[in-house]
Amino acid sequence: MFNALLLDKQEDRTVASIQSIDESRLGTGDVLVRVEYSTLNYKDALAITGQAPVVRTFPMVPGIDFAGIVEESTHADYQPGDAVVLNGWGAGETHWGGLAQKARVPGDHLIPLPAGITTQNAMAVGTAGYTAMLCVQALEKYGVAPQDGDVLVTGANGGVGSFAVAILAKRGYRVIASTGRPEEAVRLRELGAADIIDRATLSKPGKPLQKERFAAAVDCVGSHTLANVCASLRYGGAAAACGLAQGMDLQATVAPFILRGVALLGVDSVYVPRARRMAAWNAIANELPVAVIEGVAATIGLSQAVEVAEQLLRGEIKGRVVVDVNR
Ligand code: NDP
Repeated sequence: MFNALLLDKQEDRTVASIQSIDESRLGTGDVLVRVEYSTLNYKDALAITGQAPVVRTFPMVPGIDFAGIVEESTHADYQPGDAVVLNGWGAGETHWGGLAQKARVPGDHLIPLPAGITTQNAMAVGTAGYTAMLCVQALEKYGVAPQDGDVLVTGANGGVGSFAVAILAKRGYRVIASTGRPEEAVRLRELGAADIIDRATLSKPGKPLQKERFAAAVDCVGSHTLANVCASLRYGGAAAACGLAQGMDLQATVAPFILRGVALLGVDSVYVPRARRMAAWNAIANELPVAVIEGVAATIGLSQAVEVAEQLLRGEIKGRVVVDVNR
């Protein structure tokens, strides 16, 4: 038996409860993992509260990511005792995810935990930090470099945003953090932001072409914000779009693309090929100081996950939430 947060559907309502579950109910997969830590991502909060159709089949254990120790494996790459990480691949959406003490998954969905990072800190980074790194790598693959000018991060106080600020600053970029919580300016500056702007300056419909302010951007927000970001990129600039915290819509014109040659780079973390996952995780382990990782995260127990998911959707959580599934 193991403990898990289980989501069920009752008369169109998602009901979440901690349950003791028999191991035989775990899905198929060639690796059984003893989960140590999971996290609460924005998507998990949507799933737990039932506010968006993240979960495809019920009952479901949510949790799009986890880190733990292999307990049983028939996969050639994994032996009992190996420390592993999983991000995405439909965990917590189409098959049971990480907010549980056990998870059975295809070994191809796992990557080995990089040396020098604990399972707890891997989840402090979580899908948010890993997505932030994918965004930065997408911008740099496109050709963006620190000498090009300021880089904007929207949703800067969120999980992806916080890590994007830290990673970019560590790589030598001058980072402008856009936030609706200016009271967190000190924290953002500690992470490496050179300047803070109020997200309200970006959140309403704006002109198709605006002052050329940013060489690049990591956008966690979508909607009018992303349209304004594209309109504010310098000639030849690029924005990595990964999120929809303001909305999924994008009411923009083609003007920035055809008149300033800017690029909009889509970033998905769920089905990224393994080689790019490994590159992102290795860069995180090599570059991010432990103090930064630990400073961004707070740890809660499994029983607090529902309450904290609601707070997260109300925008009351800053940084990352790690879930210790064993308490
Ligand atoms: P968080 O909830 O931690 O952060 C989102 C941040 O967005 C908030 O902290 C807030 O930042 C800002 N925000 C919230 N509401 C609004 C609004 N109405 N208008 C403008 N800004 C707003 O989420 P994550 O950091 O985990 O994820 C960020 C986004 O990225 C989400 O949409 C998530 O679904 C997406 N995502 C996508 C992935 C992918 O594979 N593409 C992977 C991971 C996440 P502030 O207080 O600073 O204003």
